[in-house]
Amino acid sequence: MNKTVIKLAIQKKGRLSEKTIELLKNCGIKFISNSSSLKTKAFNFPMEILFLRDDDIPGYVADGVADFGILGMNEIDEKNKNVSIIKKLGFSKCRLSIAVPNDFNYTSIHSLEGKKIATSYPVILKKFLTENNVSAEIHEIGGSVEIAPTIGLTDAICDLVSTGGTLLSNGLKEVEVIYKSESALIGNKNLSPEKQAILDKWMLRIEAVYKAQNNKYILMNVPNSSIEAVSKLLPGMKSPTVIPLREEGWSSVHSVINQDDFWEIIEKVKREGAEGILVCPIEQMIL
Ligand code: AMP
Repeated sequence: MNKTVIKLAIQKKGRLSEKTIELLKNCGIKFISNSSSLKTKAFNFPMEILFLRDDDIPGYVADGVADFGILGMNEIDEKNKNVSIIKKLGFSKCRLSIAVPNDFNYTSIHSLEGKKIATSYPVILKKFLTENNVSAEIHEIGGSVEIAPTIGLTDAICDLVSTGGTLLSNGLKEVEVIYKSESALIGNKNLSPEKQAILDKWMLRIEAVYKAQNNKYILMNVPNSSIEAVSKLLPGMKSPTVIPLREEGWSSVHSVINQDDFWEIIEKVKREGAEGILVCPIEQMIL
Protein backbone atom coordinates (compact mmCIF):
# COMPACT_ATOMS: atom_id res chain seq x y z
CA MET A 1 0.00 0.00 0.00
CA ASN A 2 1.32 3.46 -0.90
CA LYS A 3 1.75 5.50 2.29
CA THR A 4 3.51 8.46 0.73
CA VAL A 5 2.21 11.79 2.00
CA ILE A 6 3.18 15.22 0.68
CA LYS A 7 3.97 18.01 3.12
CA LEU A 8 2.59 21.42 2.26
CA ALA A 9 3.75 24.52 4.16
CA ILE A 10 1.27 27.38 4.32
CA GLN A 11 1.17 30.68 6.16
CA LYS A 12 -0.04 30.27 9.73
CA LYS A 13 -1.58 33.71 10.10
CA GLY A 14 -1.76 36.60 7.71
CA ARG A 15 -3.02 37.84 4.38
CA LEU A 16 -2.48 34.54 2.57
CA SER A 17 -3.93 32.05 5.05
CA GLU A 18 -7.63 32.45 4.38
CA LYS A 19 -7.37 32.21 0.57
CA THR A 20 -4.90 29.32 0.79
CA ILE A 21 -7.26 27.32 3.01
CA GLU A 22 -10.14 28.18 0.66
CA LEU A 23 -8.13 26.86 -2.32
CA LEU A 24 -7.40 23.56 -0.52
CA LYS A 25 -11.07 23.17 0.44
CA ASN A 26 -12.16 23.96 -3.15
CA CYS A 27 -9.82 21.16 -4.23
CA GLY A 28 -11.89 18.86 -2.03
CA ILE A 29 -9.07 18.43 0.52
CA LYS A 30 -10.62 18.14 3.98
CA PHE A 31 -8.76 18.89 7.19
CA ILE A 32 -9.22 20.60 10.53
CA SER A 33 -7.33 23.83 11.05
CA ASN A 34 -7.33 25.49 14.43
CA SER A 35 -5.23 28.39 15.59
CA SER A 36 -3.12 26.39 18.06
CA SER A 37 -1.96 23.46 15.90
CA LEU A 38 1.09 23.81 13.67
CA LYS A 39 0.47 20.61 11.74
CA THR A 40 -2.58 18.74 10.50
CA LYS A 41 -3.31 15.82 8.19
CA ALA A 42 -5.95 15.81 5.47
CA PHE A 43 -8.62 13.11 5.94
CA ASN A 44 -9.14 12.35 2.28
CA PHE A 45 -5.90 13.24 0.46
CA PRO A 46 -2.29 12.17 1.15
CA MET A 47 -1.27 15.61 2.42
CA GLU A 48 0.09 16.97 5.67
CA ILE A 49 -0.26 20.71 6.18
CA LEU A 50 2.33 22.66 8.15
CA PHE A 51 1.36 26.13 9.41
CA LEU A 52 4.47 28.31 9.35
CA ARG A 53 5.72 31.88 9.03
CA ASP A 54 5.69 32.74 5.32
CA ASP A 55 9.29 34.00 5.30
CA ASP A 56 10.47 30.60 6.61
CA ILE A 57 8.65 28.64 3.88
CA PRO A 58 11.18 29.01 0.99
CA GLY A 59 13.99 27.63 3.19
CA TYR A 60 11.92 24.68 4.42
CA VAL A 61 10.89 23.77 0.86
CA ALA A 62 14.47 24.10 -0.46
CA ASP A 63 15.73 21.84 2.37
CA GLY A 64 12.94 19.30 1.83
CA VAL A 65 11.42 19.76 5.32
CA ALA A 66 8.28 20.58 3.33
CA ASP A 67 7.70 19.36 -0.23
CA PHE A 68 5.57 22.33 -1.26
CA GLY A 69 4.70 25.79 -0.06
CA ILE A 70 2.11 28.44 -0.82
CA LEU A 71 3.31 31.99 -0.26
CA GLY A 72 3.83 35.38 -1.84
CA MET A 73 6.26 35.80 -4.75
CA ASN A 74 7.81 38.63 -2.70
CA GLU A 75 9.06 36.13 -0.08
CA ILE A 76 10.19 33.67 -2.76
CA ASP A 77 12.31 36.27 -4.56
CA GLU A 78 13.56 37.85 -1.34
CA LYS A 79 14.79 34.53 0.08
CA ASN A 80 16.11 33.46 -3.33
CA LYS A 81 16.22 29.75 -2.42
CA ASN A 82 16.58 26.88 -4.83
CA VAL A 83 12.90 25.95 -5.29
CA SER A 84 10.69 25.53 -8.33
CA ILE A 85 7.70 27.77 -8.96
CA ILE A 86 4.92 25.36 -9.91
CA LYS A 87 2.04 27.78 -10.41
CA LYS A 88 1.27 31.42 -9.76
CA LEU A 89 -2.05 31.42 -7.90
CA GLY A 90 -3.25 34.97 -8.48
CA PHE A 91 -4.50 35.87 -5.00
CA SER A 92 -2.95 38.23 -2.39
CA LYS A 93 -1.81 40.58 -5.11
CA CYS A 94 0.24 43.46 -3.80
CA ARG A 95 3.19 45.67 -4.76
CA LEU A 96 6.50 46.43 -3.12
CA SER A 97 6.92 50.20 -3.20
CA ILE A 98 9.23 52.93 -2.06
CA ALA A 99 7.43 55.63 -0.10
CA VAL A 100 8.65 58.91 1.36
CA PRO A 101 7.13 61.43 3.82
CA ASN A 102 4.60 63.75 2.18
CA ASP A 103 6.94 66.76 2.53
CA PHE A 104 9.90 64.97 0.86
CA ASN A 105 10.73 66.77 -2.40
CA TYR A 106 10.82 63.70 -4.64
CA THR A 107 11.55 64.26 -8.32
CA SER A 108 13.05 60.96 -9.47
CA ILE A 109 14.66 57.78 -8.20
CA HIS A 110 17.89 59.83 -7.85
CA SER A 111 16.24 61.81 -5.04
CA LEU A 112 17.06 58.69 -2.96
CA GLU A 113 20.81 59.05 -3.54
CA GLY A 114 22.63 58.86 -0.18
CA LYS A 115 19.36 58.43 1.75
CA LYS A 116 18.44 55.76 4.30
CA ILE A 117 15.61 53.36 3.38
CA ALA A 118 13.93 50.98 5.87
CA THR A 119 12.64 47.66 4.54
CA SER A 120 12.00 43.99 5.28
CA TYR A 121 12.95 43.24 1.66
CA PRO A 122 16.65 44.20 1.40
CA VAL A 123 17.45 41.77 -1.44
CA ILE A 124 14.71 42.99 -3.83
CA LEU A 125 15.38 46.63 -2.89
CA LYS A 126 19.15 46.31 -3.39
CA LYS A 127 18.60 44.79 -6.84
CA PHE A 128 16.31 47.66 -7.81
CA LEU A 129 18.71 50.35 -6.55
CA THR A 130 21.68 48.73 -8.29
CA GLU A 131 19.76 48.47 -11.59
CA ASN A 132 18.96 52.19 -11.30
CA ASN A 133 22.47 53.25 -10.25
CA VAL A 134 21.30 54.67 -6.95
CA SER A 135 23.47 54.37 -3.89
CA ALA A 136 21.33 54.41 -0.74
CA GLU A 137 21.72 52.89 2.72
CA ILE A 138 19.36 49.96 3.32
CA HIS A 139 18.18 49.57 6.90
CA GLU A 140 16.61 46.12 7.41
CA ILE A 141 13.77 45.90 9.91
CA GLY A 142 11.34 43.07 10.60
CA GLY A 143 8.01 44.90 10.69
CA SER A 144 6.14 48.19 11.26
CA VAL A 145 8.33 49.61 8.53
CA GLU A 146 6.02 52.59 7.91
CA ILE A 147 6.96 54.13 11.24
CA ALA A 148 10.69 54.45 10.41
CA PRO A 149 10.65 58.01 8.93
CA THR A 150 8.41 59.38 11.73
CA ILE A 151 10.81 58.20 14.45
CA GLY A 152 13.80 59.56 12.55
CA LEU A 153 15.26 56.15 11.68
CA THR A 154 15.26 56.56 7.89
CA ASP A 155 14.33 59.02 5.11
CA ALA A 156 12.18 56.56 3.15
CA ILE A 157 10.67 53.09 3.34
CA CYS A 158 10.20 50.17 0.98
CA ASP A 159 7.26 47.96 1.94
CA LEU A 160 4.31 45.98 0.64
CA VAL A 161 1.31 48.02 -0.37
CA SER A 162 -2.12 46.65 -0.98
CA THR A 163 -4.78 49.37 -0.62
CA GLY A 164 -2.34 52.17 0.26
CA GLY A 165 -4.24 52.88 3.51
CA THR A 166 -1.25 52.23 5.79
CA LEU A 167 0.96 54.66 3.85
CA LEU A 168 -1.74 57.31 3.94
CA SER A 169 -2.30 57.02 7.66
CA ASN A 170 1.45 57.32 8.29
CA GLY A 171 1.88 60.50 6.23
CA LEU A 172 3.77 58.73 3.42
CA LYS A 173 3.45 58.95 -0.37
CA GLU A 174 4.20 56.08 -2.75
CA VAL A 175 6.86 57.16 -5.26
CA GLU A 176 8.16 53.97 -6.91
CA VAL A 177 6.58 50.55 -7.43
CA ILE A 178 9.62 48.28 -7.55
CA TYR A 179 8.01 44.83 -7.64
CA LYS A 180 4.56 43.25 -8.17
CA SER A 181 3.63 40.18 -6.17
CA GLU A 182 0.98 37.48 -5.97
CA SER A 183 0.70 34.09 -4.29
CA ALA A 184 2.42 31.05 -5.78
CA LEU A 185 2.81 27.32 -5.24
CA ILE A 186 6.45 26.30 -4.92
CA GLY A 187 8.02 22.87 -4.73
CA ASN A 188 11.21 21.12 -3.73
CA LYS A 189 13.43 20.39 -6.73
CA ASN A 190 14.07 16.73 -5.82
CA LEU A 191 10.63 15.24 -5.47
CA SER A 192 10.36 11.46 -5.42
CA PRO A 193 8.25 9.91 -8.22
CA GLU A 194 5.60 9.04 -5.59
CA LYS A 195 5.36 12.67 -4.46
CA GLN A 196 5.35 13.88 -8.05
CA ALA A 197 2.38 11.55 -8.71
CA ILE A 198 0.47 13.06 -5.76
CA LEU A 199 1.33 16.56 -7.04
CA ASP A 200 -0.07 15.62 -10.48
CA LYS A 201 -3.36 14.55 -8.86
CA TRP A 202 -3.50 17.74 -6.82
CA MET A 203 -2.67 19.93 -9.86
CA LEU A 204 -5.58 18.39 -11.78
CA ARG A 205 -7.85 19.64 -8.99
CA ILE A 206 -6.18 23.07 -8.80
CA GLU A 207 -6.53 23.57 -12.57
CA ALA A 208 -10.20 22.49 -12.35
CA VAL A 209 -10.85 25.06 -9.61
CA TYR A 210 -9.17 27.86 -11.60
CA LYS A 211 -10.96 26.96 -14.84
CA ALA A 212 -14.29 26.86 -12.99
CA GLN A 213 -13.63 30.30 -11.47
CA ASN A 214 -13.07 31.76 -14.95
CA ASN A 215 -16.13 30.19 -16.52
CA LYS A 216 -19.89 30.26 -16.05
CA TYR A 217 -22.64 27.81 -16.99
CA ILE A 218 -25.27 29.56 -19.08
CA LEU A 219 -28.80 28.47 -20.07
CA MET A 220 -31.27 30.30 -22.27
CA ASN A 221 -34.42 29.85 -24.33
CA VAL A 222 -33.79 30.35 -28.03
CA PRO A 223 -36.22 30.38 -30.99
CA ASN A 224 -35.34 27.40 -33.20
CA SER A 225 -34.63 29.73 -36.12
CA SER A 226 -31.71 31.24 -34.14
CA ILE A 227 -30.11 28.02 -32.83
CA GLU A 228 -27.39 28.02 -35.47
CA ALA A 229 -26.42 31.65 -34.80
CA VAL A 230 -26.52 31.25 -30.99
CA SER A 231 -24.54 27.99 -31.13
CA LYS A 232 -21.74 29.79 -32.97
CA LEU A 233 -21.60 32.34 -30.15
CA LEU A 234 -21.56 29.61 -27.46
CA PRO A 235 -19.12 26.92 -28.56
CA GLY A 236 -18.82 25.62 -24.96
CA MET A 237 -16.47 22.76 -24.11
CA LYS A 238 -17.42 20.75 -27.22
CA SER A 239 -20.68 22.18 -28.49
CA PRO A 240 -23.77 23.56 -26.74
CA THR A 241 -26.54 21.26 -25.51
CA VAL A 242 -29.83 21.93 -27.29
CA ILE A 243 -33.02 20.57 -25.71
CA PRO A 244 -36.47 21.17 -27.22
CA LEU A 245 -38.93 23.10 -25.05
CA ARG A 246 -42.52 21.92 -24.65
CA GLU A 247 -43.55 25.08 -26.47
CA GLU A 248 -43.32 24.53 -30.20
CA GLY A 249 -40.53 26.39 -32.02
CA TRP A 250 -38.28 26.99 -28.97
CA SER A 251 -35.27 25.21 -27.46
CA SER A 252 -33.21 25.50 -24.30
CA VAL A 253 -29.51 26.02 -25.10
CA HIS A 254 -26.88 25.25 -22.43
CA SER A 255 -23.19 26.07 -22.61
CA VAL A 256 -20.10 27.28 -20.75
CA ILE A 257 -18.67 30.74 -21.32
CA ASN A 258 -15.56 32.55 -20.23
CA GLN A 259 -16.09 35.24 -17.61
CA ASP A 260 -14.14 37.78 -19.69
CA ASP A 261 -16.48 37.42 -22.70
CA PHE A 262 -19.60 37.31 -20.58
CA TRP A 263 -21.34 40.65 -21.30
CA GLU A 264 -20.38 40.71 -24.95
CA ILE A 265 -21.94 37.25 -25.48
CA ILE A 266 -25.10 38.13 -23.55
CA GLU A 267 -25.66 41.18 -25.78
CA LYS A 268 -25.16 39.12 -28.94
CA VAL A 269 -27.47 36.22 -27.97
CA LYS A 270 -30.18 38.68 -26.93
CA ARG A 271 -29.95 40.24 -30.39
CA GLU A 272 -30.57 36.73 -31.79
CA GLY A 273 -33.79 36.49 -29.76
CA ALA A 274 -32.57 34.56 -26.69
CA GLU A 275 -34.73 34.95 -23.58
CA GLY A 276 -34.78 33.79 -19.96
CA ILE A 277 -31.01 33.71 -19.66
CA LEU A 278 -29.69 32.02 -16.50
CA VAL A 279 -26.03 32.16 -15.46
CA CYS A 280 -24.74 29.75 -12.82
CA PRO A 281 -21.36 29.34 -11.11
CA ILE A 282 -19.35 26.18 -11.85
CA GLU A 283 -17.73 24.33 -8.95
CA GLN A 284 -15.18 22.25 -10.84
CA MET A 285 -14.29 22.06 -14.52
CA ILE A 286 -12.32 19.08 -15.83
CA LEU A 287 -11.49 19.08 -19.51
P1 AMP B 1 -2.41 48.41 2.89
O1 AMP B 1 -2.69 49.41 4.00
O2 AMP B 1 -3.63 47.67 2.46
O3 AMP B 1 -1.71 49.05 1.73
O4 AMP B 1 -1.45 47.29 3.49
C1 AMP B 1 -0.16 47.64 3.88
C2 AMP B 1 0.30 46.85 5.08
O5 AMP B 1 -0.04 45.49 4.95
C3 AMP B 1 1.81 46.90 5.19
O6 AMP B 1 2.17 46.85 6.55
C4 AMP B 1 2.27 45.66 4.45
O7 AMP B 1 3.47 45.16 4.99
C5 AMP B 1 1.11 44.70 4.65
N1 AMP B 1 0.76 43.96 3.43
C6 AMP B 1 0.07 44.43 2.37
N2 AMP B 1 -0.12 43.46 1.44
C7 AMP B 1 0.47 42.36 1.92
C8 AMP B 1 0.63 41.03 1.43
N3 AMP B 1 0.11 40.62 0.28
N4 AMP B 1 1.31 40.14 2.21
C9 AMP B 1 1.78 40.53 3.41
N5 AMP B 1 1.68 41.76 3.92
C10 AMP B 1 1.03 42.68 3.20
